[in-house]
Amino acid sequence: RAVTMDKVVALCKRRGFVFQSSEIYGGLASTYDYAHYGVLLKQNVKQEWWRAVLQERDDMVALDAAILMHPRVWEASGHLEGFTDPLVQCLGKCKKRWREDELRAQQLGSEHAEGEIVCPECGGKLTEPRQFNLMFKTHMGPVEEEAAVVYLRPETAQGIFVNFRNVLQFARRKPPFGIAQVGKAFRNEITPGNFIFRTREFEQMEIEFFVPPAEAEQWHRYWMDERLAWYQRLGIRPQHLRLRAHGPDELSHYSSATSDIEYLFPMGWAELEGIANRGDYDLRRHAEFSGEKLEYVDTATGERYIPHVIEPSAGADRALLAFLVDAYDEEEVEGRKRTVLRLHPRLAPIKLAVLPLVSREGMPERARRIYEELRSAFFCEYDEGGSIGRRYRRQDEIGTPWCATVDGQTLEDDTVTLRDRDSLEQVRIPASRLRAEIERRLAE
Ligand code: ATP
Repeated sequence: RAVTMDKVVALCKRRGFVFQSSEIYGGLASTYDYAHYGVLLKQNVKQEWWRAVLQERDDMVALDAAILMHPRVWEASGHLEGFTDPLVQCLGKCKKRWREDELRAQQLGSEHAEGEIVCPECGGKLTEPRQFNLMFKTHMGPVEEEAAVVYLRPETAQGIFVNFRNVLQFARRKPPFGIAQVGKAFRNEITPGNFIFRTREFEQMEIEFFVPPAEAEQWHRYWMDERLAWYQRLGIRPQHLRLRAHGPDELSHYSSATSDIEYLFPMGWAELEGIANRGDYDLRRHAEFSGEKLEYVDTATGERYIPHVIEPSAGADRALLAFLVDAYDEEEVEGRKRTVLRLHPRLAPIKLAVLPLVSREGMPERARRIYEELRSAFFCEYDEGGSIGRRYRRQDEIGTPWCATVDGQTLEDDTVTLRDRDSLEQVRIPASRLRAEIERRLAE
């Protein structure tokens, strides 16, 4: 593979996908800003997720809960007590802080292995691990000393559980059904890094799928297959994806079984999405802490039960990174190196670039008109600056699947050439058929 993380980071900056946040002040560690093409790409990732989990199903409803929640939520959920990572600090020269489980996995091959680990930076001894809570704390109200402590949500899931009863009332659904949500989450990670792979502020795409208890295992399996297929449909190579079941001592405080979808990033296999069987843990705990009944009652049979929950939890930023890494390619074409993002057309920020071959003889005017006719249907770009070869390469680097070029012949018979990013094939088609042709290809 030609790809490295450095190359992806450089392309993201050069072409306007992702910037370091607050860069003119030296940057804020592991926070990033999405630039123009990054915004469009991420929007498409989320849109494809909504399409698959909501639009094309009839057993899902949408939700967008607030980031700030009642503090009791985090007691009930177990996050106040259990959402921690083991922190160790170097006693040697460098004094750096690390996640003990990660160092253990790196140095001893497994995060559960017994034995001594040392600071990877300076080889120094380490402190005993201390449990460090990952939730960001802030205050609600103007006077800090009197104000209630609130937390920035470390996952979107709890917004779904606390709305379970509200949704049940209006949605006329019975288990199995799900609630889907996309939104920001915040974690004060000890070791963020690898670009946008692990940051302190990120976006999650989460489903809580409520099922009759006896069907939990079967739905767990179903969602693993379904989510794995989603990444593959959107172009990630199957050999770069795998499912990995968590060992018993790896499970989160709420989970009875979890499998991760992992992707082969440049730094190795790492989690892309977690698919957990949460049992009835969350609804039971919220019922206990709130005093409300959180169960499903079948009015026909009188049967009542607490549904079990299957949770496919994905990161929008992490998925975006995987799509970028997998799409990144370099090749030689006619003796020149070209960098190309082979993004799935539905993910590509720009679907079609409309380019006049040269910027004279009426070509810019004709190309501009075509562009203006098409841009209400899908994202297009018009570009007349520089040689045609350079403009093609620019579109290759932002992953634009097709370029329509207006040349001398266009002015005679109103046909354009349509260039394919991957095969580099060019076909001539009437300008009037461009819209239908691109829409047909996008629907494939
Ligand atoms: P990791 O151990 O890799 O930080 P996790 O196991 O804590 O992840 P989950 O709690 O299962 O992650 O969160 C579900 C998904 O949310 C992850 O699969 C990932 O895609 C995304 N995610 C979690 N933490 C981060 C983060 N700090 N930055 C970016 N995405 C994240």
